[in-house]
Amino acid sequence: MEYPPPFSDSHLENLVSEIKDWQITHGSLLKLVNTDQDNTVLTHPVGACLLATLFPKELFEQALGLQKVYNKLYAQVAEDEEWLYDTLKDDEFAKTLWGIHEEVKKEGLGIFRSDYMLDANPAGQVKLKQVEFNTISCAGGIHSNLVSDMHRHLQRRGLYLPAELSAPTPSINISASHLPPSHTLSTIISGLVSAHKLYGPPKSPAAEQTCILFIVQPRNFNIADERPIDYALWDQNIPTFRVELSPAVLAQTSLTPTRELLYHPPSRPVAALPLEVSVVYFRAGFEAEEYSGPGGGDAREARARLELSRAVKCPSILSHLTTFKKVQQALAMPGVLQRFLSSSSEVVGIANTFARLYPMDASTAGLEARKLAMDGEASMGYVLKPSLEGGGHNIYGSSIPAFLACTPEEKWSRYILMSKIVSPTVHNLLMSPQGLYNGPVISELGVFGVCLWRRSGEAEGRVEIIADREPCCWSFKTKSAGVDEMSVVKGYGCFDSPALVDNDVFMACCRDAEKS
Ligand code: ADP
Ligand code: MG
Repeated sequence: MEYPPPFSDSHLENLVSEIKDWQITHGSLLKLVNTDQDNTVLTHPVGACLLATLFPKELFEQALGLQKVYNKLYAQVAEDEEWLYDTLKDDEFAKTLWGIHEEVKKEGLGIFRSDYMLDANPAGQVKLKQVEFNTISCAGGIHSNLVSDMHRHLQRRGLYLPAELSAPTPSINISASHLPPSHTLSTIISGLVSAHKLYGPPKSPAAEQTCILFIVQPRNFNIADERPIDYALWDQNIPTFRVELSPAVLAQTSLTPTRELLYHPPSRPVAALPLEVSVVYFRAGFEAEEYSGPGGGDAREARARLELSRAVKCPSILSHLTTFKKVQQALAMPGVLQRFLSSSSEVVGIANTFARLYPMDASTAGLEARKLAMDGEASMGYVLKPSLEGGGHNIYGSSIPAFLACTPEEKWSRYILMSKIVSPTVHNLLMSPQGLYNGPVISELGVFGVCLWRRSGEAEGRVEIIADREPCCWSFKTKSAGVDEMSVVKGYGCFDSPALVDNDVFMACCRDAEKS
């Protein structure tokens, strides 16, 4: 079975031209911040796959089906201060955040993304393995939504039919039923709206209405992944404002003695009333550098003010801390999931998605990991990961021993060791400013979960789930098979959507891709 179908050069040119127009028209773009002038700015289409990449339907459905359990698990972990503190006590960045944490609010909003890759074992089976669990600033959903819409448009236009219907090898003819729609925008909005409604009317006599505040990074090239959320909230008559971390947060917000967070829009006349913030949605504040160096003190103060307020935080500091790779590794230790999940089928479902994860500390498991990591041959099967976000921080395989050799041993426990997920490859065409790539690729599926909870004080649950949307949205990214990292905005891969096929079809295409 051949996929993608053979295209003539002119067909390919036509496809590329259609894609550029579609992307420009629909905001599937990155902003080139260096070209930002008084009256204009340039953009370019975000890296995208020409066609949806093949993915096993059964495993896609398994990932979506697990998301509600993952939502519950991470809501529980976020409310287990004692366990989290014990798990993260050695991490420097966690210490910074911990200093800011204040136990003030009972409600939590999670906009999560659980990332998976396919893992092929020697017996020829393919399984879903979790790469990481994200709880802050989960990006890529809007871009993926658009690229998925684009693939479905190109399919209905007939642009995925092979040039020669009588081609020698039969090719897979992708129909609309192979291409599931993703509803990331509406799902994220529904979470923010639920939290906004739960907050209710303003509490402070100083404010007449409530608003949602987005905390964003300055010089943001990825506005096309954020702005649609902001505009859609305005369409629902919810005032929504973007404020940069951090001097702007300090200048434009204040806390009342009863902890209402007031927002004073700079564009309003001084006499106008401030708005009371119902929800704080973070698309910034996840990188350690944002809190260190010049301005870092302001960022800490800004984060503390937001955390201290009675607004619903997405995420709270504790929920943010659950995204640390150390937490993922600690959850994979024997017996730990049972602390948070009472159903054994849920425990098994989650545990099956875990790769092998080790601490790098002086515990027995840590000493075993150190041995593996220092061994030239054994280390080939592993990835060394610090608890940092944003891509580009991992150390892969054969580079691990040399990296550890020049890292002081007392810093090793800041890392975790994870078995390398080896994905089967299929073929596809990727298009980005770097050019057109035609060859073996591997994909990463990120399932979004949107969940609102309240701390409950009961033993089974430290949390009561108030609203948990059916998981129907995801991000899907694909890179050339030779690349270790993945970050589309940093140029490591492309946005994509899955073309869902049966396992045997997927495996047959993997075998063909290996042969060619
Ligand atoms: P970050 O917080 O930087 O996004 P990730 O854990 O997602 O950290 O790692 C970044 C990328 O590195 C992933 O998207 C994936 O491409 C690759 N990667 C991470 N862990 C593994 C692994 N165990 N096996 C194979 N690739 C991995
Ligand atoms: Mg990641």
